[in-house]
Amino acid sequence: MSLQSPCPVSQDGALVVFSGGQDSATCLAWALDRFARVETLGFDYGQRHAVELACRDTLRAGMAELKDGWKNRLGPDHTLGLDALGKVSDTALTRETEIQMTESGLPSTFVPGRNLIFLSFAAALAYRRGLRHIITGVCETDYSGYPDCRDDTIKALQVALNLGMETRFVLHTPLMWIDKAQTWALAETLGGEKLVTLINHESHSCYLGTRGTLHPWGHGCGTCPACELRKTGWEAYEATRKEHVAHD
Ligand code: ZN
Repeated sequence: MSLQSPCPVSQDGALVVFSGGQDSATCLAWALDRFARVETLGFDYGQRHAVELACRDTLRAGMAELKDGWKNRLGPDHTLGLDALGKVSDTALTRETEIQMTESGLPSTFVPGRNLIFLSFAAALAYRRGLRHIITGVCETDYSGYPDCRDDTIKALQVALNLGMETRFVLHTPLMWIDKAQTWALAETLGGEKLVTLINHESHSCYLGTRGTLHPWGHGCGTCPACELRKTGWEAYEATRKEHVAHD
């Protein structure tokens, strides 16, 4: 068993909630390493950074090229329109307003209950497609404080979904307890330098939807909360990589 395949491949099917960002791209590679059949699901809810949806095809194609096993396991992509979510959430992610901290202590990018809704729709699709495992890139390590990204929320939702649909879904959160730098390191473990470069160049994090110049950490405006997180994480990852090289 090599480092690249830390566990035997499960014959179960999996559905990855795949936005086209760094986290969900890493989750897709994680799932391709573990499950015999992997499908992806993206949501269009009128987000300002809808450009991330366009990154999904490039990322999927790039991963299929990385390993023969991954190519064989990668199944269809699904996109669901959730216009209603954009309509009920008056936030900086779906409106042309400034991204700032609000009185609740959450940034104005918070879309109330977004992950609860995403995962409920993911479960409905997984039910129809016969997929037992649902993978999401939520994380409560270096996140923006969104309560629907927390471990307790996801665990409670797993129970609710299984009761409500009389199923045995497993909700996986491979990034829950790691920071952005460790997420890059995880990508390196899963698919080496090629996967790191693919995710760096082709995934999208910027809330403003800016692609523009390719920075060392990827594309983006460089100043919104998502870009700041991504830049800090990349720099920390690069620093550890340099340390390793120095010690070798
Ligand atoms: Zn940005």
